[in-house]
Amino acid sequence: MSIKKNKKSALSIKKGVSQVKKLDKKTIVKYTLSKKTRKTPKFFLEGILKNNISVLSQAITLIESSKKEHKDKSQEIINLCLPYSGKSLRVGITGVPGVGKSTFIEALGMMLVNKGKKVAVLAIDPSSKKSGGSILGDKTRMEELSASKNAFIRPSPAGSTLGGVTRKTAETIILCEAAGFDVIFVETVGVGQSELAVSSMTDFFLLLMLAGAGDELQGIKRGIMEMADAIVINKADGDNINKSRLAMAEYKNALHLFPASKSGWIPIVKTASAYTKNGIEEVWDTILEYEKLVTKTSYLFQKRNEQAKYRMYETINEELKNRFYNDIQNKKKISELEKKVLSGEISPYFAAKELLK
Ligand code: GDP
Repeated sequence: MSIKKNKKSALSIKKGVSQVKKLDKKTIVKYTLSKKTRKTPKFFLEGILKNNISVLSQAITLIESSKKEHKDKSQEIINLCLPYSGKSLRVGITGVPGVGKSTFIEALGMMLVNKGKKVAVLAIDPSSKKSGGSILGDKTRMEELSASKNAFIRPSPAGSTLGGVTRKTAETIILCEAAGFDVIFVETVGVGQSELAVSSMTDFFLLLMLAGAGDELQGIKRGIMEMADAIVINKADGDNINKSRLAMAEYKNALHLFPASKSGWIPIVKTASAYTKNGIEEVWDTILEYEKLVTKTSYLFQKRNEQAKYRMYETINEELKNRFYNDIQNKKKISELEKKVLSGEISPYFAAKELLK
């Protein structure tokens, strides 16, 4: 577009094109936001492939943005990164708050970094939408690991539903892999549905537990235990060592009762301590054994394919739901019909059918 300067103002442009009168705050904000979008997808790809953490972070911010133009650009970046993805080992880690997840990931992560690996830590925590802070993100976490140049730690995106956080994290994994991270930890709090989300995007699922904390199952549902490829009785140090060994035996017995996994892998129970570092190396060896098995049997390939298919349908469901509820016409109709349901005029089933028409 050619800009014809006129004598009165440097901001005057060609007739017929809307003119910017002055650079007010709104215009400046808009300009700053659009800066990220003005960089081409190829620019992002090149930066990411060079393991440029600043470019990687900016691309992830585009994934997390709710703006359509940012989302569209992020999709282009993801597509460009896709051929370079898939090479990492994706490890999901869960457990109740306080079980020691971040301390454990820091110990394991540092061990890997010292072996020359590049480690990324992502978090899934939909609770972060409530307070702006989150269970996973509001404390100083993994200080040593975050200072390492071979580690990248990204807290859970705020202000999202579980479906949204899941999609964003799965897409972030692709970018991190293109950036050359060898191991990606996806961490979540063991409360609710987020474990399912984590297992839908990781290769190996690790459950951290504590010994002797009242009920041995600590509110972790049986279904979550069934998903685990390994259970680690954490904080097995000091007075806790014997109790941890006892708990290990109990969990081993409990796991025997579960049906065999499709992978052919028999879940392992171990004890570990991030304080003494006992057991940390063994947990990693277990993960590598699993990787060896599932690579040999092609189960890993199948599992990742199934995960991709699952995510496609999840995205469709989420998008359909969003479109339905955000439609202005629907919004009006929904509140009208809701009133009728509450006054007993029509049944909820009838109201839903009416709306879906
Ligand atoms: P998260 O909420 O699951 O991420 O747990 P944190 O990693 O923040 O740890 C919760 C508390 O347990 C902190 O006070 C840690 O210092 C402590 N902790 C973590 N790992 C260990 C461990 O291996 N042994 C002992 N004794 N305490 C630990």
